[in-house]
This record gives sequence, structure tokens and C-alpha cells, in this order.
Amino acid sequence: MIEKITSSQQAIDMEARYGAHNYHPLGVVIARGKGPFVWDVEGKQYFDFLSAYSAVNQGHCHPKIVSAMIDQAQTITLTSRAFYNDCLGPFEKYITETFGYDKVLPMNSGAEADETALKLCRRWGYDKKGLPENQAKIIVCDGNFHGRTITIVSLSNDPDSYAGFGPFTPGFIRIPYNDVNALAEALKDPMVCGFLVEPIQGEAGVFVPDEGYLKKCYDLCKAHNVLFIADEVQTGIARTGKMLACDHEGVRPDILVLGKALSGGTMPVSAVLADDDIMLNIKPGEHGSTFGGNPVACRVGIAALEVVREEKLAERAEYLGKIFRDEMSKVNSPMIKQIRGKGLLNAIIIQPTNGKEAWDVCEKMKELGVLAKPTHQHIIRFAPPLVITEEELREAIEKIKEAILSFEK
Ligand code: PLP
Repeated sequence: MIEKITSSQQAIDMEARYGAHNYHPLGVVIARGKGPFVWDVEGKQYFDFLSAYSAVNQGHCHPKIVSAMIDQAQTITLTSRAFYNDCLGPFEKYITETFGYDKVLPMNSGAEADETALKLCRRWGYDKKGLPENQAKIIVCDGNFHGRTITIVSLSNDPDSYAGFGPFTPGFIRIPYNDVNALAEALKDPMVCGFLVEPIQGEAGVFVPDEGYLKKCYDLCKAHNVLFIADEVQTGIARTGKMLACDHEGVRPDILVLGKALSGGTMPVSAVLADDDIMLNIKPGEHGSTFGGNPVACRVGIAALEVVREEKLAERAEYLGKIFRDEMSKVNSPMIKQIRGKGLLNAIIIQPTNGKEAWDVCEKMKELGVLAKPTHQHIIRFAPPLVITEEELREAIEKIKEAILSFEK
């Protein structure tokens, strides 16, 4: 039996005592969730404006997704890929048809899916582009966040991610984000086989590149016979107002990386999509995962994508995101330095005022019933579940305004 938690402090103390200290959470202990709301141990209700870093786009405990999960959990949960299962084929068909690719490779976490994309890209570089053994290079961007594995932190220029974890994986060239000329320059290296990019950099603080950036990068990649790899783990699945953030510029990535909301936040489900020319270079035994493509994940993945389509979540994100940015831009406060974002992936850059900074704003919002967390000290990301109604969003906006304005007195 799990030990009964009767107060938030009890849970916080237990995590501090028994868990690794690899996170610094806001002091709220969530015990329950429904749609855009969560409740703490004491029963206080909050708007969730983080959505588990955009994994809960469909809202907490979406009944359709949970019901697919329970139904499959009572039938068969895991077969491993040593055998076929009767859910994987239907999931593969559904997701490839949804995003328009020949093939999918299912994994679990976002980091694993990014690792998979890097392996696929290198393999394509050797088998199809004809690069000499062990010479392949992949271009990545400053400010990237693709996860926490050794290879992926090797790509990072954030000391919090990489410092003290070397030696690092070679074979990557890092260039400034949102800089087409830097990409053009880096592509002169004939060993380059891929360019990995987030269409909007979420963890870096919701950096939206200039309009046309993705398309120009894609065209440059094509001109150099280099694969354009989009990490849409955070931006994908309706978050930015289109099914994929790349859709805003009509770009179809050669390799598409998805995670997070692919399960509506119920369990780790990630996927890499590509056409046969790329995907079929990896042969049996050369890549995989015990849990990747498990029957529960497959049922959950289909249900999660169906909810996005049925509830028109991309359209909702587009519409509600405009309201959020419009309303916040009306707030006259020296604390608001900048508001930026797309769809319902937004951020406010906080100008510390009267000794108060983003963390204090988040604490105040928490008190008023809205949960969000600073990223990189001065940036607060606002990313509610996409099922939030306009009325609920407006109510939350009032609380956010109140929190920011409270520090002017
Ligand atoms: N890629 C992007 C763009 C992300 O935002 C994240 C997580 O925030 C990841 C990859 C890593 O996903 P995971 O934490 O599931 O490994």
C-alpha cells in the first residue's frame, strides 16, 4: 500500500528526503487533475499553465484517452517487439496517415526519439549520402533543448545541461538559432548530413524565430542534400495553433520527432516519422526499446491524436493564443518586458522590479490559483491545456494580471 499523504508539506519533505534533487519545483503538491485544472492535497484548485511542458495538451485525464488506456491495460500491456502485437500496426497506420509519412519508429521519451532521429540521420548519411565511416556531422542550434542523455547534452550550450557530464559525443556543429546565414556557412562542410532544429525553442524561453526561418533552412538543407530534422516534441500536436509548428511555414521535415502530447500526458509515448528512403536503412536488431510500440502506448497514441482532431485543438490554440497575447499586452507594468509566442505556447519576459522577479510572480500566481514556472530565471512560460475554454482563459488571465500588478505597490 502507498503511504497516505495528508498534507502538501509531508509530500515535499518525503521527496526531499528520498528523491534525487534534480528538480526545483514550485511548492505545490498536485493530487488530482481534470481538463485545465489541478487540485493540491488540501483541495485547492489551480489552472495548470504548464501542462507538463505541453504533454497535457488534451487536458488532464481526458476520458477518451484514459478509457483507451484502461481497456488496453486490462487486455495486454507489453509484448516486447520480439513478437507482433495487434495494436502496433493500427497505430503505425494511423500516425503515418495523420502526418503524411511512409513509416514511424515508436519510442517512449522525447530524448529517446531525438536520439533515434540522430541515429537515422547518421545512418542515412552513410548509406545514402555516401559519407565516409564515422565522419558524419549534424548541425544543431544554440539554446537547443532536446533532452538529457549524454549525446543530447553534448549538443547543448547550457552549462546546467552539460557541465560535469563529459566526455561528450562528437560529430555536431552548433550554430546560432534564427540565423540562416550561419546555417548556409555550416552547410559548406561536406560531412554534414542533418540539421536538427526546434521550430520554436520552448525550454530556452519560447524563442519564436523570424517568419520564414524554417522554410529558408529547409530549402538550404535540400540544396545541400542534408536532412531537415524537426524536434516537435514540445511544439507539435496542436500546441502552436497548427498540428505541427512547421505547418505555419508549409515545411515538411524529412525527419519528424514527436513526444509529450502523443499520449495526452498519460504515459511516455514518442515517435519518429520519416519516409522509406530514411527509415529503412535501419535493419532488425539495430535500434529499439523494450517498451517502444507497446500495446497500451499504441491505443493511447491513437486516442490522443483523435482527441486533437475531434476537439479541433489546433484551431482552439490559435484562437485562444491571440486572446492571451492581446490581453497581456494591455497590461501596463514595468515588469512585463516582452510577450511572445504562438498559439498557446507563450512566454512573458519579466523585468525584475522592486526586488521581485519571475519566481515571485509565479509564487503570487500560485496563491491566486494559476500554476506556471520560470525558465531561465526571467522568463515565464504560459502553456495551458488546449481544452481550456475562452471563459476559463479569461479568468486565468485576470489572475495573472493581478499577480504581476501586485508587485508595483
Ligand atoms: N525535445 C524538446 C523540444 C523538449 O522540449 C523536450 C522536453 O522538454 C525533449 C525533447 C525531451 O523530452 P523528454 O523529457 O520526454 O525526454
